[in-house]
Amino acid sequence: MKVLKFGGTSVANANNISLVKNIIADLGSNKTIVVVSALGGITDLLLKTAALASAQDQTYKTILKEIEDRHLLTIKELIPIHSQSKVLSKVKSELNTLETLLEGAYLIGEITPKLSDKIVSYGELLSSYIISEYFIVEGIDTVHADSRQLIKTNSNFGKATVNFNLTNNNITEYVDKCNNSVIIMGGFIASAVNGDSTTLGRGGSDYTAAIVANAINAEVLEIWTDVSGMYTANPKIVKQAMAIPHISYEEAMELSHFGAKVLYPPTIQPVLTKGISIVIKNTFDPKAAGTLITKNKNGQGKTVRGISHVENIALVSLEGPGMVGITGISKRFFEVLSTAGISVVMITQASSEHSICIGIDNQDADHAVQVINDAFDIEISLGKIKPVIAEKDLAIIALVGDNMKSHQGLSGKMFSTLGKNNVNIRAIAQGASERNISAVILKEDVKKALNTLHEEFFEENIKQLNLFVMGVGNVGAKFLNQIQSQKKYLKEKLKLNIRVIGMSNSRTMIFDEDGIALKNWEELLSKGEKTDLDLFFQKVKKLNYRNSIFVDNTASQEVSETYNSYLRNSISVVTCNKIACSSAYDNYQELKDLARQYNAPFLFETNVGAGLPIIDTLKHLVASGDKILKIQAVLSGSLNFVFNNFNDSTTFHDVVKQAQEEGYTEPDPKIDLSGVDVMRKILILARESGNVLNIEDIQNNPFLPQESLETTNNEDFFKSLTKYETSFQEMYKKAVEEDSKLKYVAQFENGKASVGLQRIPKGHDFYNLEGSDNIVLFYTERYPNQPMIIKGAGAGADVTASGIFADIIRIGNF
Ligand code: ADP
Ligand code: ASP
Ligand code: MG
Repeated sequence: MKVLKFGGTSVANANNISLVKNIIADLGSNKTIVVVSALGGITDLLLKTAALASAQDQTYKTILKEIEDRHLLTIKELIPIHSQSKVLSKVKSELNTLETLLEGAYLIGEITPKLSDKIVSYGELLSSYIISEYFIVEGIDTVHADSRQLIKTNSNFGKATVNFNLTNNNITEYVDKCNNSVIIMGGFIASAVNGDSTTLGRGGSDYTAAIVANAINAEVLEIWTDVSGMYTANPKIVKQAMAIPHISYEEAMELSHFGAKVLYPPTIQPVLTKGISIVIKNTFDPKAAGTLITKNKNGQGKTVRGISHVENIALVSLEGPGMVGITGISKRFFEVLSTAGISVVMITQASSEHSICIGIDNQDADHAVQVINDAFDIEISLGKIKPVIAEKDLAIIALVGDNMKSHQGLSGKMFSTLGKNNVNIRAIAQGASERNISAVILKEDVKKALNTLHEEFFEENIKQLNLFVMGVGNVGAKFLNQIQSQKKYLKEKLKLNIRVIGMSNSRTMIFDEDGIALKNWEELLSKGEKTDLDLFFQKVKKLNYRNSIFVDNTASQEVSETYNSYLRNSISVVTCNKIACSSAYDNYQELKDLARQYNAPFLFETNVGAGLPIIDTLKHLVASGDKILKIQAVLSGSLNFVFNNFNDSTTFHDVVKQAQEEGYTEPDPKIDLSGVDVMRKILILARESGNVLNIEDIQNNPFLPQESLETTNNEDFFKSLTKYETSFQEMYKKAVEEDSKLKYVAQFENGKASVGLQRIPKGHDFYNLEGSDNIVLFYTERYPNQPMIIKGAGAGADVTASGIFADIIRIGNF
């Protein structure tokens, strides 16, 4: 005989119940016991209406009405009109009794645990009755059994203890006598020996089914729910989680104890003793294999089987110098808790015996603090023990697997993975069975912790990078295109899964927790909310994704001032915006320090030479012990364009105008022509070579007349260029006479940097520089005479975007 249990979602409405019927009909005429939960959500509503009624809040009636409507609608949708009246009148009469109970609670302004159980039992009572009537109408030979008559418990309302002797007898007797093929009973509900309704604890329908399976020696216990088995982690939180095909009782118990709600923890015990297998199946995908739970699988398969978590945990530590060496403190400590009915989820004790630390439910925290402080008041007054306090709003995450004990290094891997993502660990514990390693963390870190650990232990090293992109102009748009076209390659070859979670331009911003669809980002972004830099940061922080990267594709000072906040929250920063790195040295240094301290890379390869690997090369040279002696470089694509096109058959004014119009210069061309842009670049290179330098320390030898430099708008600037045309022509002539070319050169040597226009003779490395190319010569201790040269396109949206991309990949491989 099989026992099948269908949970709340599986019986939430008429449509779902019809799926349940199909599953039962497919079993044929074999005798089967079906245990059902209340219609999904009804238990919560019953508890809510009871709480409101006892608080003398009239709105309890609205909730009661909702409960009534759900049941009546389900009947009307399931059962043909001509058979409805009997079912409707029975259900209405039960609902009337429920109403009377609630009125009672309202009048007295109080609710006892006994009355609460009575009220809450209506959920399963009604669902099991309605479903059995529907099955009968559908031609399935069904009988409705009242679970309260069969399952007997003590009077510990809310979570009663089963009397197995009585219960097993009742069930076997009933089943033996019963001639119907299908017996339907409500889960979760039972009764005390005196007949009072009791319940088995939230989620307890699984337990009911296990009790029945045990009593009748069922061939299998099937738990039908809304997911396809027990997953490697809660699938609602970890998208990549997968169903575990086969797992041992102990592993399942450990996972469920630590929060895998798909199975109520006490469920395993009754079937384990009889060796009855459990199969977890999906009502909405019956073909999916689900999870098989059996006896220990003797060391086959994976070491870590699953990761689970419990939220709303509080930590309470008993500590103090008076604890060392005194026997019996732990005993008293746990006795106090047990007498107060507080269950301990996790225990850790430091080997110094200086402290015992326990994890308990948040709800019990205040009570626990009070009873412990009362019990140890003498020791506390003598200063031997410190008064305990509770640290609330924590969570436990646990790695579970039978084979973990035979593998070294798992806890190291677990903690370093969490550490890398800046998940603060408040306490750790390892079960004596070594089937479990658990860590207590902040509640807000749960999602990040679970996903990172899942990635580490289950996802064949596919690493997810979560990007928050600010600035989607020229460079930003190209960058998004590149991500989209490289996505598949990165996933397959580099095992990187890149997603853009947030995006913003100066007008609007959007977020999508599952990743923004890059195909139509423009349209999505145009419909976003108004951009707000602080709000953008707050959202990124709140999402708290692992491997978060803030990407700045703007040239904005304001945006550059936010890096600090990102880094402090372990969010990496990748930027092509030069402002931060060329700002005051202290600011640059602080950002670098934060990056180190919070384990969040701060990368800005594109600050110099766009996509050329200049900064990265410099870093490697320095890191490997080389010393930079001299840097000589042509770093301005705009100035190259200008001087490559300027000659005696044109005017300087026209060439600059053309450069501006073709997008080779900043919108304000003076920034390029005055050398400020190049100063920033050489400053960054000097700093990255290990020098303390500020922009004021750089010598700028201007080629522009003072009057041009002093202009305050583009119009005046261009006018001044025309005015001084003769002097520009002079510069050109002189260069031609010397058989040289004009190049704007940046130089760094002996701690000093300078920028300025130079006449470069034939044969020099700079002489043949084309278009907007950049070139850098590094003279180092290892390359003293023949410099290391990096040369190539040093401007343009495409190469800049690919430079940003390269930084992202660097973080991925970090
Ligand atoms: P039912 O009402 O069918 O008893 P539950 O809501 O009690 O269903 O349990 C199923 C839910 O358990 C899933 O929808 C999922 O959100 C949650 N869950 C938590 N951890 C896990 C896990 N490791 N594997 C599967 N489901 C899990
Ligand atoms: N209906 C009960 C609850 O919601 C029991 C169950 O569904 O397992 O807790
Ligand atoms: Mg459940």
